[in-house]
Amino acid sequence: MPDTASAILWFRRDLRLDDNAALHAAIDAAGPVIPVYIREPVQPDIGPLGAAQAWWLHHSLAALKDKLKSLGSDLMFATGKADDIIIDIARKTGAKTVYVNRAYERTTVDREIAIALKDAGIAIRAFHGQLLHDPKLIRTGSGSAFKVYTPFWNAMQKLHEPHGPIASPKSIPSPESHPRSEALDSWNLLPTKPNWAAGFSRHWTPGEAGAQEKLEDLIDADLHDYKRGRDFPAIDATSRLSPHLALGEISPARIWHATNGLADKHRDDLVHYRKELAWRDFCYNLLVEFPDLRTKNWDDKFDAFEWEFNAADFSAWTKGMTGYPIVDAGMRELWQTGYMHNRVRMITASFLIKDLLIDWRRGEEWFRDTLLDADPASNTANWQWVAGSGADASPFFRIFNPILQGEKFDPDGDYVRHFVPELKDLPKKYIHKPFEAPNHVLAGAGVELGKTYPKPIVNHGMARDRALEAYKGLKG
Ligand code: FAD
Repeated sequence: MPDTASAILWFRRDLRLDDNAALHAAIDAAGPVIPVYIREPVQPDIGPLGAAQAWWLHHSLAALKDKLKSLGSDLMFATGKADDIIIDIARKTGAKTVYVNRAYERTTVDREIAIALKDAGIAIRAFHGQLLHDPKLIRTGSGSAFKVYTPFWNAMQKLHEPHGPIASPKSIPSPESHPRSEALDSWNLLPTKPNWAAGFSRHWTPGEAGAQEKLEDLIDADLHDYKRGRDFPAIDATSRLSPHLALGEISPARIWHATNGLADKHRDDLVHYRKELAWRDFCYNLLVEFPDLRTKNWDDKFDAFEWEFNAADFSAWTKGMTGYPIVDAGMRELWQTGYMHNRVRMITASFLIKDLLIDWRRGEEWFRDTLLDADPASNTANWQWVAGSGADASPFFRIFNPILQGEKFDPDGDYVRHFVPELKDLPKKYIHKPFEAPNHVLAGAGVELGKTYPKPIVNHGMARDRALEAYKGLKG
């Protein structure tokens, strides 16, 4: 006999028990809770799951299942269209309600799913928790979304603080038996031959516990020097919470409240950190406003831009073999650790778009496939920001010089030496421009350009002029 009081709890990008409003509401409904994670067909607004994040997802789901089991519950895995799966579970268990946390990157598909479920007599109860604030609350005087970050941040200041986070439950009521689940291993989310993700676990612990550890590290360090240090890739000044946030293993409200105690000690650092967290909200606001953000220029003037595509250049960029050390260090950091420092993301993205004139969408795709924190809003909005095609974007004519950026933000070359070890013995003067080093200096450092390390694939000065010329054509 089906249990009519069962509640379906549908996990999406909220793989946590802490501060999970949908979970709490499902428990409050007083019947058995049936947690499910659905592997859905690719959704055009979001794009396919990247290979690096698939690795993370596997471990995150395994950790979530273990945690649920420790509270007397379980996690069912199913593949298919979400509405079909939910209707099937409801039919088998008698559940009449599905509980979810809103996922603002999927408002279009969720609208369709809600209609299908309503037709099948199943109610959806949706809750907030993915962002600091629901995008509906931060609007301009005329009711539209903010297109510029600073007024967005100012408007956020006028709101109440983000909601107080809800603690994890102590137990979860369970049905006598959970519906049949697919085996997580059968989803083949982990790479095998070759296992290019082998190094990831040295840097990361996917799952809620790993997220809490990173948060504790941040608080133990008092966010000291965040405002200045966050721009230097060789300094460990940032939180590295982004992969955990991307799959919702921690809520931004939890981070916000956990850092409240730092206000007296390091006010400037704290405000700056919160402004970065708010950038994440801003990116989601843009995506809600313009669900085609991944595929279309926000500023349609860029539709006429004449991108070029040279496969050899693109391949050199992906492999960290462009001949520009700071670019190569970033691309190799990404490949080896599944992460890249924010400053270097801007430099490498600028290099692809402006030095190589390759369409930002190629870069977005590569980052989505290789970043552990690949995020449907932050990745697309930031790529458009660098390209100049986005809302509140960096103007196209602001072109990063990879040598000067390296000298400014990696002044001793420590970051480059770490990720581009074939240059590690070069003196500081040439670490960001080995192509300018005299032969005896190169020989002394064991560097043979074109053999041990590539010559630059493009001359930056020439590339800069070419990019500005292409941009001029656009305006005319
Ligand atoms: P911290 O400095 O500790 O910041 C705290 C949190 O604030 C981050 O975890 C992140 O959630 C948020 N945040 C910080 N900077 C930004 C930003 N510029 N935009 C949006 N949110 C921000 N971030 C992603 O989470 N996923 C992506 O796919 C992604 N792609 C990017 C692509 C490009 C081309 C660029 C330039 C930036 C991208 N970012 C992305 C933003 C940023 O680089 C990362 O959020 C940051 O490096 C994560 O490291 P952290 O957690 O130590 O950051």
